[in-house]
Amino acid sequence: MHQVINPANEEVIATVPSLDGEGTDAAIARAHAALPAWTAVAPGDRANLLRRFSDVVRDHVEELAQLEVINSGHTIGNARWEANNVANVLAYYAGAPERLFGRQIPVPGGIDITFKEPVGVVGIIVPWNFPMPIAGWGFAPALAAGCTVVLKPAELTPLTAIKLGELALEAGIPEGVFTVVPGKGSVVGQRFVDNPLVRKIVFTGSTAVGEQIMAGAAPHMKRVTLELGGKSANVIFADADLEKAAASAPSSVFDNAGQDCCARSRILVQRSAFDTFMEHFEKAVKNFAVGDPNLESTEMGPLISRAHWESVSAFIPDPSIIAFQGTCPTGPGFWFPPTVIAPVESTSPLFHEEIFGPVVAVTVFEDEADAIRLANDSEYGLSGSIWTRDLGKAIRVARGIESGNLSVNSHSSVRYWTPFGGYKKSGIGRELGPDALDAFTETKNVFISTED
Ligand code: NAD
Repeated sequence: MHQVINPANEEVIATVPSLDGEGTDAAIARAHAALPAWTAVAPGDRANLLRRFSDVVRDHVEELAQLEVINSGHTIGNARWEANNVANVLAYYAGAPERLFGRQIPVPGGIDITFKEPVGVVGIIVPWNFPMPIAGWGFAPALAAGCTVVLKPAELTPLTAIKLGELALEAGIPEGVFTVVPGKGSVVGQRFVDNPLVRKIVFTGSTAVGEQIMAGAAPHMKRVTLELGGKSANVIFADADLEKAAASAPSSVFDNAGQDCCARSRILVQRSAFDTFMEHFEKAVKNFAVGDPNLESTEMGPLISRAHWESVSAFIPDPSIIAFQGTCPTGPGFWFPPTVIAPVESTSPLFHEEIFGPVVAVTVFEDEADAIRLANDSEYGLSGSIWTRDLGKAIRVARGIESGNLSVNSHSSVRYWTPFGGYKKSGIGRELGPDALDAFTETKNVFISTED
């Protein structure tokens, strides 16, 4: 059994069973047994079931959002967006089963056609920072492709995933097709890697565990999609709208208390704009509303756990490096104020390591080439933003930065209809968007002779 704690007040809110290895293997065996019937469901019927699942999630948005507020400390506004995101992703991939086209390829002596066939049982391993969306980005396209799914939520944040498992059954998704398996990464997650009946792993989490999963999957030649860490750059040129860039910078890194793989946790500012930018940025940081996640006006809640609070705090052993900070509640709860460190040299661990908390490092650059060099001076390559009024420069820099998801004069969040994923140690493969089903299908090529 595992105690679930509200990070905003440290109260125990639930006790959840942790499955052991045998229990996990039994769930995987049920998913494997459910596979032939689920794969055989006619495309239009599978689409209708996914639409119904989407509708049932939509009917429970408020309940799911409230659960996420107490389990994860997410602000109520974010939590509603996250629950709606699951419904939207299901509705989007409900359009896929009837469009899972193969190809007809010209060949001599016959006809050549390809089929997209489900890869089999998919194991999805979810981190604690966005429990609902990250689960949905895996299970919605997997189910649409005709795969069955076992899903392991993070130990700290299992409540919404367990609820989504119940909603799937309520929507008529057959037993065994989508099973939520709460428990430890080293037990349940490891069985997903070791049990040969699981044919594909979708893992979102730290780069260290992602490396272990890829190594463990190799002897089985299991397919993997890995969404890992990030240290994304927010690049601000002197010709940008500096007020707008500064006003939006806090939410691009402090949203979800900085526990976001896409957090723009490095701000790179052109030297001639540094003072003006910092003046506007300081005002915005000091006005960032940190507090009770239940209030509609709150922009940032607590960190997820005491252990994580200690890990974030360890990055700032000496408070004299802090340029300025916002405020946060005192008393129970894992509170940490929005914190700005400046100027940070590119040799500093603050520039390179994913702190995964509300801490941003500001670094100065000289020109376009220097901005690209600094942005790429990272083992990660997940996200990033570019602020300039010069369109040509924006495109050159966007093409120059080694990162999977960039936005110009905005900090766009993930859209379910565009691809998402990372370069370098930020992962392998892409989720979401029109091509996501490729990650859950094998391509079968069949040649039919027309010779007499
Ligand atoms: P984590 O790697 O500690 O855990 C992630 C999940 O893996 C959890 O469910 C955990 O139980 C499980 N796990 C742990 N050890 C395992 C093992 N040996 N075998 C199988 N499963 C195991 O990460 P976390 O601390 O929960 O999440 C934070 C990390 O996730 C950050 O690095 C963040 O950048 C990353 N992240 C990436 C994305 C993305 O899309 N790229 C999105 C969100 C979070």
